[in-house]
Amino acid sequence: MDTAMRAQATVDLAAIGANVRALRDRVRGAGVMAVIKADGYGHGAVRVARAARAAGAEWLGTATPHEALELRAAGLDGRILCWLWTPGGPWAEAIRADVDVSVSGRWALREVVAAVEETGRPARVHLKADTGLGRNGCQPADWPDLVADARAAEAAGVLKVTGLWSHFACADEPGHPSIEAQLTAFRQALAVAGAAGIDPEVRHMANSPATLTLPAAHFDLVRPGLAVYGLSPVPQLGGPAEFGLRPAMTLRAWLANVKRVPAGHGVSYGHTYTTPGSTTLGLVPVGYADGVPRHASGTGPVWIAGKWRTVAGRVAMDQFVVDLGGDAAEVGDEVVLFGPGDAGEPTAEDWARACGTIAYEIVTRIGVRVPRVYRTAPPERGGGAPSPGLEAPLAGTGEGDG
Ligand SMILES: *Cc1c(COP(=O)(O)O)cnc(C)c1O
Repeated sequence: MDTAMRAQATVDLAAIGANVRALRDRVRGAGVMAVIKADGYGHGAVRVARAARAAGAEWLGTATPHEALELRAAGLDGRILCWLWTPGGPWAEAIRADVDVSVSGRWALREVVAAVEETGRPARVHLKADTGLGRNGCQPADWPDLVADARAAEAAGVLKVTGLWSHFACADEPGHPSIEAQLTAFRQALAVAGAAGIDPEVRHMANSPATLTLPAAHFDLVRPGLAVYGLSPVPQLGGPAEFGLRPAMTLRAWLANVKRVPAGHGVSYGHTYTTPGSTTLGLVPVGYADGVPRHASGTGPVWIAGKWRTVAGRVAMDQFVVDLGGDAAEVGDEVVLFGPGDAGEPTAEDWARACGTIAYEIVTRIGVRVPRVYRTAPPERGGGAPSPGLEAPLAGTGEGDG
């Protein structure tokens, strides 16, 4: 139990389910692929995947094949797509596990064909077009060749092109001229593939911001990640509640030391903070190894006994300090770093703003040293300490329900 009194990330699986249902309602007619990469944006891939499936997500999406295989190994069935491939695969393992694979170039198509020869099972392939992001995906100049090769392999029974897809560069800036340009380029890529005889099950392009703000990008399937976790991908337009979403993660720690210090006392490495007067310091036992950004030094917000406090001085690897002013405090007092915000506590978005980053980075970087504790029932009103519906941290794989 001592780890439980250091730090804990509570993950509200009921919120994950409600967010998936809200997204489904919003895109009626299109399916939902819940993106579960990076350990479910730090929330725990398997638990999130089960909750998303139970709420009706038709597809799960991961970046690496290893992430997709982890979901299969934990018993998640149904469609899973993974898209970040490097030479060597593991293509054969993914094909055997019934995972849809993404192909952005002819090298990858050759490796898929070789893996099909090895496994004797046809592959399901999503061809990815670079419509302007300039990251992964096939350039328009190379697309006709890729499409022709894929169609030939399909005609030979080696694979089925199940998807045609792309990804936005600036969907989080509605009205950005690249958005219309990418939609046009995607429609052209679809037309080229159609003319070559490819008839995919799903065409998909929308990440969270496009899912929430751009119905023209929904096509057959949307691929929200951040919104599944209840965070707003367009904070300049509205917070989670404005989009019918609820943040799923609450990060807490408990004070590990409380002491009186005199005025003029330096605090933490580099003495970038000096106590302005005689005061009480509280020691929060999490640091950058736990995902608290070092950029939060002197700026990150925490919530203690109903008040906002600011990180005093530098965030260290394992701990940071807050100046509690004249307030009474005790070792073991709760510190909320971020949560949904309903009780007045800071949110992941507040941390992102304080650190000059985005909420994506705040939640995905919570370290492995912080136990995840899962809650399946709606949270108690006004209560910080959950008990009904609370589940123990997932020990090993495949244990517990969703
Ligand atoms: C991460 C990712 C998504 C999800 O993005 P969000 O902005 O979190 O919704 C969708 N598609 C691809 C290709 C991605 O890499």
